[in-house]
Amino acid sequence: MPEGHTIHRLAARHRELFAGQVVDVDSPQGRFADGAGLVSGRRLEDTEAYGKHLFHHFAGELSLHIHLGLYGKFADGELPVPAPVGQLRMRMSGDAHWLELRGSTACEVLSPVEVDAIRVRLGQDPLRDDADALTAYRKVGSSSKALFALLLDQTVVAGCGLIYANEVLFRAGLAPATPGRAIGAAQWVEIWDDLRALMKEGVVRGRIDTVHTAHTPEAMRRAPRIDRHGGEVYVYRRPGQPCLVCGSPILRGEMAGRNLYWCATCQKDR
Ligand SMILES: [Zn+2]
Repeated sequence: MPEGHTIHRLAARHRELFAGQVVDVDSPQGRFADGAGLVSGRRLEDTEAYGKHLFHHFAGELSLHIHLGLYGKFADGELPVPAPVGQLRMRMSGDAHWLELRGSTACEVLSPVEVDAIRVRLGQDPLRDDADALTAYRKVGSSSKALFALLLDQTVVAGCGLIYANEVLFRAGLAPATPGRAIGAAQWVEIWDDLRALMKEGVVRGRIDTVHTAHTPEAMRRAPRIDRHGGEVYVYRRPGQPCLVCGSPILRGEMAGRNLYWCATCQKDR
């Protein structure tokens, strides 16, 4: 599933292509025909990302809400609009560009009240300027749940996905099973700041890199990582491979139904 940095990139991209324009919206597949009819012909005023949720805000207080889920995908290009191919949920065209969406979990038109209802159930999004680390800490510091599970809980930290959760715990030297309440506020703020910096870099690069300068392929004179997720990482999808810091084999387990990767030497239980 795309992590928050991808959604923030999409929000910026769609703002650049369509904000301020009156757009045509339709649903060649038909599943979004009613919603498309509500926003087509309106001005797209702005876009917004909140965690893994994307919003297109239209004139007349209507918002298009999209959650890509596991299979959702956008494509865009310059006009003319190409003929629809396959199951095309939503199609948009503006002054010079078109946008296509297929396979998303959510694609719906919401009122401001409904948008707020989504926002209030989400946790703090490290990529948003209005996010607050200590608000997230109120949930983390009072929880007996593992930090790994708390980082993935979208009502605690919105936008953090599997790669960032695994990697930020390695960088903090914390065992993934460490309960939230074992972490002080200052230590949480360090984790938060690190996560935010990594995610901001992800927005710029369009991929997730988490290794420090000393552990890049160039610095270590090693071959770059080959993985369909790209990016240089410490533990994610590296089971059995040597830890880039200490050489111990990276371990793999499961927690909260998600794949967990860690180094038992660098991330000792305390
Ligand atoms: Zn290690």
